[in-house]
Amino acid sequence: MTDTAPFDDLSTLLSAISGGDGGSITPPIVQSSLFAFDSFQDFADRMAGRSDTAIYTRVQNPTVAAFEQMMARAEGGEAAVGFASGMAAISSTLLAVLRPGDRVACVENVYPDAYRFMERMLRPFGITTTYHSVAAFEDDPDLLQGVTVAYLESPSSLMMQPMNLPKVAAHARRHGALSIIDNSWATPVHQRPLSLGVDIVIHSASKYISGHSDTVAGVVISSAAHIARLRDLTLPLLGGKLAPFEAWLLVRGLRTLPARMRQHQETADLFVSRLAQMPEVTRIHSPGANMVPGLTGRSGLLSVEFDESIDIPRLCDTVKLFHLGVSWGGFESLILPALVGLDQAGEHNPMRVFGVSPHLVRLSLGLESATDLWSDFHAAVMAAKS
Ligand SMILES: *Cc1c(COP(=O)(O)O)cnc(C)c1O
Repeated sequence: MTDTAPFDDLSTLLSAISGGDGGSITPPIVQSSLFAFDSFQDFADRMAGRSDTAIYTRVQNPTVAAFEQMMARAEGGEAAVGFASGMAAISSTLLAVLRPGDRVACVENVYPDAYRFMERMLRPFGITTTYHSVAAFEDDPDLLQGVTVAYLESPSSLMMQPMNLPKVAAHARRHGALSIIDNSWATPVHQRPLSLGVDIVIHSASKYISGHSDTVAGVVISSAAHIARLRDLTLPLLGGKLAPFEAWLLVRGLRTLPARMRQHQETADLFVSRLAQMPEVTRIHSPGANMVPGLTGRSGLLSVEFDESIDIPRLCDTVKLFHLGVSWGGFESLILPALVGLDQAGEHNPMRVFGVSPHLVRLSLGLESATDLWSDFHAAVMAAKS
């Protein structure tokens, strides 16, 4: 942990990354599937591992490498590897480190498709997952006994429960369990899990890293050894690679990440203070700075629970500045009612399993005027009151 203001710290870091040739201040988009060699000897040297230039874009690409380098530096890791989506990053990481018979201990209210991956993909391969509360992870020192992977989110999805990461990472280390965290909510602006003792950090870069709701991508940051394993095994063999153009969009997004996160926080602070004064609001799920060790700020993704006087469908149909939809982290503000998730088709519904309230709505507060957003939301709540 550093004493530097997190926003400025990260801005300096990201601005230090250079662009392309001829004074270009952004990296070129290298839209090429393969990279040709000048001679037999160059080709042979590369294949034998005596050089490390790009051969084929499924495995290595200069634009993707520029993004990976920025993410490694932002999270304070030795290396990073990009993936086609957050789910490709999650599945490729877990499949690289787990074997039949292994056990995963996962935090409750984990991202729904991560939950389905554990249940629908890992379980049939003989890898079992058990789900535990934040309190159990923190306070039961023997929870991780015999566990191969502690799969964490802090804060968790939808319920935004933050976790004492230094404590949980220390438990994992003592039991020889690998700790993996999805850091999409906090971003390296607000939390750097590697510096808190966590082994592997994963992002859905589709959210704040991209910041513009125009890309689906993922990235994993860790030690050189862990990343080398992903590069050797699941990146080439499952093939969920990040595309050069998407990587370029992410490099562009990263440059404004600290500024965007500052604005998201300002708006979220306003919402939290105003929501706390509304008698119709029963719970606010929005962790902020210092609520747990190493968390330095609040993101724009928060959840609110209302009492029974608020008609949630009417609220959703009345807001004007909030779009109804999944995902989050872009310019436009979004509203997601728990009701539609609770009614989602298909087996393994984590929202029902974890008991999410039908009176909950998740808000992704975007970059529009904070006061306009609040006026719009407040008016809609009042219009939805019976
Ligand atoms: C969206 C999301 C994911 C999945 O990422 P994709 O890029 O959509 O595959 C994983 N974790 C969290 C917390 C998310 O919000």
